[in-house]
Amino acid sequence: MTTSTVHYRTCPLCEAMCGLEIQVQDDEVRRIRADREDVWSRGFLCPKGTTLGHLHHDPDRLREPMVRDGDRWSAVGWDAAFARCEELLHGVRDTAGPGALTAYIGNPVAHNFSLGRYVGLFMGVAGFPMIYSAGTVDQWPKNVACALMYGNMWLIPAPDIARTDYWLVMGGNPQASQGSLLACPDVLGEIDRIRERGGKTVVIDPRRTGTADRADEWVPIVPGTDAALLLAIAHVLFEDGLVDLGDVAELVVGVDAVRAACRDFTPEAVAETCRIDAATIRRLAHELAGARRAVVYGRIGLCNQEFGTLASWLVDVVNVLTGNFDRPGGMMFGKPIAWPLASLPNPQWANGYQFGRWRSRVRGAPEVLGQVPVSCLAEEIATPGEGQIRGLVTIAGNPVISAPDASRLDAALGGLDAMISVDNYLNETTRHAHVILPGLSALEQPHYDELIWSWASRSAGNYSPAIFPRLDRPHEWEILARLGGLCAGMRNDDIDVGALDDGFCTALIEATGLTPEVVLGHYDHGGPERLLDLTIRTGPWGDRYGAVPDGLTLESFRAEPHGIDRGPMVPRAREVVCTRSGKIELAPDYILGDLPRLRSRLGRASDGLVLISRRHLRSNNSWMHNVQVLMKGKDRCTLLIHPDDAARAGVAHGGVARISSEAGALDVPVEVTDEMMPGVVSLPHGWGHDLDGVQLSVAREHAGVNNNRLAPGHLVDEISGNAVVNGIPVEVVPA
Ligand code: SF4
Repeated sequence: MTTSTVHYRTCPLCEAMCGLEIQVQDDEVRRIRADREDVWSRGFLCPKGTTLGHLHHDPDRLREPMVRDGDRWSAVGWDAAFARCEELLHGVRDTAGPGALTAYIGNPVAHNFSLGRYVGLFMGVAGFPMIYSAGTVDQWPKNVACALMYGNMWLIPAPDIARTDYWLVMGGNPQASQGSLLACPDVLGEIDRIRERGGKTVVIDPRRTGTADRADEWVPIVPGTDAALLLAIAHVLFEDGLVDLGDVAELVVGVDAVRAACRDFTPEAVAETCRIDAATIRRLAHELAGARRAVVYGRIGLCNQEFGTLASWLVDVVNVLTGNFDRPGGMMFGKPIAWPLASLPNPQWANGYQFGRWRSRVRGAPEVLGQVPVSCLAEEIATPGEGQIRGLVTIAGNPVISAPDASRLDAALGGLDAMISVDNYLNETTRHAHVILPGLSALEQPHYDELIWSWASRSAGNYSPAIFPRLDRPHEWEILARLGGLCAGMRNDDIDVGALDDGFCTALIEATGLTPEVVLGHYDHGGPERLLDLTIRTGPWGDRYGAVPDGLTLESFRAEPHGIDRGPMVPRAREVVCTRSGKIELAPDYILGDLPRLRSRLGRASDGLVLISRRHLRSNNSWMHNVQVLMKGKDRCTLLIHPDDAARAGVAHGGVARISSEAGALDVPVEVTDEMMPGVVSLPHGWGHDLDGVQLSVAREHAGVNNNRLAPGHLVDEISGNAVVNGIPVEVVPA
């Protein structure tokens, strides 16, 4: 007899957090569609969300630990896998010392119920001197700006686009990503609604993206010059008397320093560099200041570029100067129902943020927020000497695809003495591992996003129980706790995962001001659900363990399969800003110190071609290329080039071009299109699946090329260390 059930859960793949209705027959996912009753997404979803069943049933997904001996992989039991991890990790510690071990943390960690809550425990127990992460290819400049302006690197404000009248989008393409550091379902629908209420959306981007197509205006810009444009906008605001800080006026310090900083960045001074005429810049400034409610939003294209921190900082500066900070329709701080662990003060920076506390061994890159550029990893592995990295743990990351100078990292990983990967696939990176420890599929574990609600347009939440609960395998949080112990030199037999978890939970309870013994007494289980319950109950709407009648608990969410919504964003800068001055620091010296570098950029000619990256709606970095239904249709890994540039380079639509940079060369099919501005070409990121040993049968059939093989590792935004993967000088010729 067959049994059919319907489940409601949140799609964990991106920041849109769409509600799904999943029909299961026996043990098989039969259909996934939008949950129209989801209080947050209200029936919105994208093609990726319907494929969670494909991911769950994917025959390439690893379900058992894998151990490598030479080129041969064997599936083993968990005890044998952890025993091998102990042998490998302790071998490195014993011969080269604990400083020879490190970790790479991938972007999916932020979207995983277990990993997102326990990666901190892993790093704390392991005690690595330093780690690497996808953060320094992604949003590190925003973290730096927010650390200095608001006092916490994860206190990142988000645009309240559901209530704005004027939205200026820079370096972001929500049509493909659905929003990043911005959680709002159906962002394109919001653009339509802004227009319906008489407003306007302007997209500033070197490429006429799908978002630009939906917007009211597209303004092309030379990659890497957004900071100059924003300074010119700020200049006009001051010059024309348009500065009005509104409700946050007495909370902001540093306005005069900003006025001085932008004095010589006139529209005329930056026009040629940005390739935007001065009149347009002046008009944009006046439109921002004149709109009833306006907001500037900058995302990945502003972060992973030459002046990432300046640009990311200036987005918020312009929002403050126009009175659009901390008010509905402007830039606001989210108010999560369950507080994120990252919101706790970090004792490292109890005396304020300092940078360059130490430098990387090989190139001397300064530490920024505890990390150095991820491109340092290859040289730290490959360069012999005291402190050489000999052992690596990768967690849900594929840096061979996603990190700059990818060829070099690919080569370096093969030389490690110990590499352990927590990952569900044998991919371009994990093929170098000695042991792969697979986590659960999204449908085998509960879900409730952790950090992402921090930049959501509403205070909502949705708990998703596991559809296919697994009691026979360790969950990722248990894997991380055990691995952390092994990295710290503990023996397998001595590691008490439950005790580590209790200690972690106790520290979090202490941070809430409650008594750990009392709170722990409420639970007969540990793990991420206990942490979730704790963060809900001690959050803004929580029951504080009975002290607040009718307050929320995890049980409240279990009773509401379509989620709970406590309303839109509210002004809360006074509540959350935690700089040492207690004020919004509009002009941090550390960031202002980078202005001379930008000034010198104004004099630099930009007459050659530069490369930018892009993403497609059916793609999600490198994660989704093994899903057949998403890979159908025309080849998406193509070089986009403007007709004038194509003619100059002698390449034709449908032909194959060779694109080269100082880091490497690739042959790739050409798409000639006027969606690119002249002088800029584009490749998608997340491709290049044809490497030996990769076990991704669908992705291999649509391998594409890895754009990060063209990204020189030394190109970074100097004050954040974030990789520059937008604006890489390249040459294009017929292949
Ligand atoms: S937009 Fe797509 S990938 Fe993102 S949460 Fe919604 S369904 Fe999932």
